[in-house]
Amino acid sequence: MDTPKRIAVLGATGSIGTQALEIIGNHPERYRATVLAAGKRVDELAALAARHRPRLAIIADSSLLPRLRGHLEPLGIECAGGEAALEQCVAADDVDTVVTATVGYSGLAPTIAAIKAGKDIALANKETLVVAGNLVNRLLAESPSRIYPVDSEHSAIAQCLAGEDMAAVDRLIVTASGGPFRTWPQSLISRAKASDALRHPNWSMGAKITIDSATMMNKAFELIEAHYLFGIAPDRIEAIVHPQSIIHSMVQFTDGAIKAQLGVPDMKLPIAYALGENTRLAGTSRPLSLSDIATLTFERPDVQRFPCFGLAHTAMKSGGTAACTINAANEVAVAAFLADRIGFNDIYDTIAHTLATTEHVASPDYADYVAVNDQSRRLAAEHIARLEASTSR
Ligand code: MG
Repeated sequence: MDTPKRIAVLGATGSIGTQALEIIGNHPERYRATVLAAGKRVDELAALAARHRPRLAIIADSSLLPRLRGHLEPLGIECAGGEAALEQCVAADDVDTVVTATVGYSGLAPTIAAIKAGKDIALANKETLVVAGNLVNRLLAESPSRIYPVDSEHSAIAQCLAGEDMAAVDRLIVTASGGPFRTWPQSLISRAKASDALRHPNWSMGAKITIDSATMMNKAFELIEAHYLFGIAPDRIEAIVHPQSIIHSMVQFTDGAIKAQLGVPDMKLPIAYALGENTRLAGTSRPLSLSDIATLTFERPDVQRFPCFGLAHTAMKSGGTAACTINAANEVAVAAFLADRIGFNDIYDTIAHTLATTEHVASPDYADYVAVNDQSRRLAAEHIARLEASTSR
């Protein structure tokens, strides 16, 4: 490529966003950040913008816009605020690729706007495909946009599929670390606090995804994400617990062969592979030494201790807005757990209750997703309030 690829980073201050910016900053001959956006962390956004000099910086919480302007207008960097600015910025002429590294449902609207504008997407926001995978795929079919997965498991699958015929794929095998409670008995898990769950053994990530990893909701979401990304039927996608997090996922083929992608647990590799449109960037990650690792082990996921994991196939079988409801209830429940308002098992309880009580739309359009998301959040919040009232904490 002669001119650097111009990149909008949504969720610039998070774990994926900052690592993407490191890669962009280290390779000015390939990449330039033209738009940086963040939710609330205005000072961190300003610091990143001062370093990377995008044309535009956006803070989703518009009450923080004056503060952002104070930092960046002296540098000649345009500033904007609010969720609508996020949707507009992805369609700008000086954006070739959008990195969607925001957390949760908020990633959906800008991703859809990017597809409609024909931009490529480096997708780190798995909730986009979980909530509205059918809609996203319908839009992709009518757009020149391509989605490159940033999630390490899906990047691994894409790497295993390179050069293969999709008709020769038997199944996708998504690896899971098992999270911080992998070896804990049920009785201890039920008393776990946010501080326990935030101690992830292998990956350093944001708080929400770390809790999702502890409940294994993250793995459930990743099975759904794989279903929509690769067009593989739900009953041909499975998870296996692999505590070392060295194999990032695998593909089994119809001749019985399994291909796996291995590497040190470092998100820079999948980020760089996605930014490069599924090509390799030399020097991205520390080389893996197999003799240092010596042992790779595998276990079946335990749906009894981690019932959230079982919601993946519930969601894929139900289709429609089921996964949208699961995602919404999970976001509300995880926030309540992080605030120490509910217990660990109440996360699953809240999701199950919300799924049972929210309206299900079988063939949703965008407005249906918005309505179901709102209703699910309200019902989840009401359930949590009842849980709090019934527990003397
Ligand atoms: Mg992952």
